[in-house]
Amino acid sequence: MSGSAAVGVYETVIGLEVHVQLSTQSKMFCGCACTFGAPPNTLTCPVCLGLPGALPVLNRKAVELGVRAALVLNCTVRPESRFHRKNYYYPDIPKDYQISQYQYTGHPPLATDGALALEAGGGTRRVGIRRVHLEEDTGKLVHAGGRSLVDYNRSGMPLMEIVSEPDLRSPEEARLFLTRLRAVLQYAGVTTGRMEEGTLRCDANVSLREPGGPHGIRTEIKNMNSLRSVERALRFEEARQRDLVARGAAVVQETRHWDEARGLTFSSREKEEAQDYRYFPEPDLLPVCVDAAWIERIRRDIPELPEARRRRFVETHGLPEHDAGLLTETRPMAEFFEETVRLFGHPKTVANWLVGDIAAYMNAAGVEIEEIAVRPAALAGLLTLIDRGTISGRSAKEVLDEMLRTGRTADEIVRERGLVQISDTDELARLVDAAIAENPGPVGDVKAGKDRAVTFLVGQVMKKSRGRANPEMVNRLLRDRIGAS
Ligand SMILES: [Zn+2]
Repeated sequence: MSGSAAVGVYETVIGLEVHVQLSTQSKMFCGCACTFGAPPNTLTCPVCLGLPGALPVLNRKAVELGVRAALVLNCTVRPESRFHRKNYYYPDIPKDYQISQYQYTGHPPLATDGALALEAGGGTRRVGIRRVHLEEDTGKLVHAGGRSLVDYNRSGMPLMEIVSEPDLRSPEEARLFLTRLRAVLQYAGVTTGRMEEGTLRCDANVSLREPGGPHGIRTEIKNMNSLRSVERALRFEEARQRDLVARGAAVVQETRHWDEARGLTFSSREKEEAQDYRYFPEPDLLPVCVDAAWIERIRRDIPELPEARRRRFVETHGLPEHDAGLLTETRPMAEFFEETVRLFGHPKTVANWLVGDIAAYMNAAGVEIEEIAVRPAALAGLLTLIDRGTISGRSAKEVLDEMLRTGRTADEIVRERGLVQISDTDELARLVDAAIAENPGPVGDVKAGKDRAVTFLVGQVMKKSRGRANPEMVNRLLRDRIGAS
């Protein structure tokens, strides 16, 4: 990128459009189940297949979850909103239209004008939420063996779209915002928020402008399938636009797709808003009416949100702020922590293993906590073995590695590998005596009062025992036998 001084004054303007699948039992307008991973076309009926004469019936639970999301995003819920048809032809949409609340003039969406607080750059910023609306998902094309097949299981799944104001100023902020948004929606029980399963999808608008000046021409970026790819894609697009501006070339308003493997965005040659969707009101559905009493009932049912849980982790479990922040970043992680603490009552120890070795493994493997082979009961089992002195902390790391790889329990692995810690005094004394005989120099240092030499000798004994000696007992035995205290 050619970063001339003139281009440096431009600021990046990013807005996100986030689709989440609502955690309902059944689809938006029919009774078919919302299950992930079912065999193709097994979750369908005349309504979600768009057969002639079939009539949609709005899922009340989907409206409730939409209102709940609107409330946690500080939006104003509209007393009346409507659905309309967005008409277009594509094989994954059998009716040839999608029922949505998206941008039909004169029809307000479910909720508008909210905000989400974001901690960025050492301060708190409010990122505006323009609108929250409901719609149905489309089916899915599967390209295999030179053929294209269509799976209608996803057709009619309940979706909510959240459109932010263009208040984000960097790719990093966009990732932070999306992380925060996902956490709030997960905690509120609105969605599972799993990007890899497509229950949370994100598109972005990116443009450049002089600070305070009018918005520049924007591009829309699609196909970002993880938090990491959102940041990478936006970083690429920001650099691409800055480079164009630096060369005096124009940014073209278009849709671009992110290519994760090549690390770039490419034009899909599809001009934004070029298509005429011939919107008109959905004649088969009544307006959605949400009165104040219903909103209050929904508000009372909102579960504990991330901020409240973070405070509780600090106050009741005595965790440092940093640990509490990391452990409440996603709801599954917070629940994993609490479940483990119920079985093994030392919160700080549990936190150390989760934000340490387990988080490192998750990062390296690119998986979420709910995908690892170790469950809370298994982690509690490992920590109990350390606590009772059955295995040393060093062996424990080795055991955890194998647990993560194989899903076996700590007990099995410890027994099979002979990792039970040596706490037998006679056996330890033999190892200690051997270390003393082999290291006259350090032994002299210990006698002369140099405490660091004890640490060295403990290390020698640990090595002889292949990590199985109980370090506290070794320390005591060494001091006894050398005659230092
Ligand atoms: Zn159906």
